[in-house]
Amino acid sequence: MNPTQLFDPASSTYTYILFDEDTREAVIIDPVDVQLERDLATLERLGVRLIWALETHAHADHITSAAQLAELTGARTAAPAGCDIGTAAVQLQDGDTVTFGHEQLRVLHTPGHTAGSVCFYWQRAEPPHDEPPSEPAQAPLGHEMRPDLRHDARHVFTGDTLLIQGCGRTDFQSGDAGALYDSITQKLFTLPDTAIVWPCHDYHERTQSTIGVEKATNPRLAGKSRDEFIALMNALDLPKPRRIDEAVPANQRSGLRQDAGSGGVADAAAQGYAGDITPQQAHEWMTHGKAVLVDVRTDAEREWVGFVPGALAVAWKQWPGMELNPDFDAQIRAAADDGQKTLALLCRSGVRSIAAAQRATELGLTVYNILGGFEGEPDEHAQRGHKNGWRHAGLPWRQN
Ligand code: FE
Repeated sequence: MNPTQLFDPASSTYTYILFDEDTREAVIIDPVDVQLERDLATLERLGVRLIWALETHAHADHITSAAQLAELTGARTAAPAGCDIGTAAVQLQDGDTVTFGHEQLRVLHTPGHTAGSVCFYWQRAEPPHDEPPSEPAQAPLGHEMRPDLRHDARHVFTGDTLLIQGCGRTDFQSGDAGALYDSITQKLFTLPDTAIVWPCHDYHERTQSTIGVEKATNPRLAGKSRDEFIALMNALDLPKPRRIDEAVPANQRSGLRQDAGSGGVADAAAQGYAGDITPQQAHEWMTHGKAVLVDVRTDAEREWVGFVPGALAVAWKQWPGMELNPDFDAQIRAAADDGQKTLALLCRSGVRSIAAAQRATELGLTVYNILGGFEGEPDEHAQRGHKNGWRHAGLPWRQN
């Protein structure tokens, strides 16, 4: 199948969804915050499970929905290492691969539009053969969705590095015209001529191009020396992007606004696990099979205080003595089906589960921490269950 291309008219941004036909694992590239509902609906309609939310760079013209997608779908966020997007769970370097099912994207570091910008090159795992269209024929066309029904083998998602008959600007945000020329001519133009070019923007309703066509006809590059290109870029004299002051800081937090509060995915990513989620979110994931709920409290706590029906029990520590559970690694791996499933960890107040989440992440698992735990933090009267947490949220639990 070919990428599903989606368009945000306000910013003329293209977002892409690609997936592995076999495992139905999907990747989204450059999602836009105001299109969150559309993107979730598209994932649902395609019948795919989002596992990566990727950025080509820290955008200046729109805000990403990466952090929201991660919270709502259990996907992980990944962003170019050079873009100061500290909230991304994975920092992408040149040559890295992003795996979804049997498919892989290769990260090409292409500085110039911004110093950290990357492109993603996708050479499909299987040679193309007769397949049904990946998008149903009734999919809306035009500026809501532009499904492409061809079945090509090579695709490059060029962000703002290479556009159709153009390229990204280089006059702000660590832009560098000489670096952009080198990135395009030495990295992108050495890809096969037949590789399809999927840009992050187009302002003239064009949807795709090829490396061969751009090499031969792109007016900024074809037949131009490096110096000529630099002179041309420096003479563009473009207005400052309208949303740059708002968008860049927000995008450096994966789309979480500065007032999003502490304890979000942002802070958690830096702490070594996939992120923090609310009990409501955990319940939703559990109900829809998007994550396995794992109770890391002791056997005694579950018995005395209460438990969540359907949650697996993998104690982090055990009474008496609160010794570490020597079988934790093996049990948590089994709970995650050896990495096939995303985990959401529940403890008493959301502290012990962080340590457990960090350990499970070291084992290569995708693990979220549930804020407030089962009983919540104590209130001003040192009463548990009166402030946040699973029980406070009114979610299902039982006592023996
Ligand atoms: Fe950009």
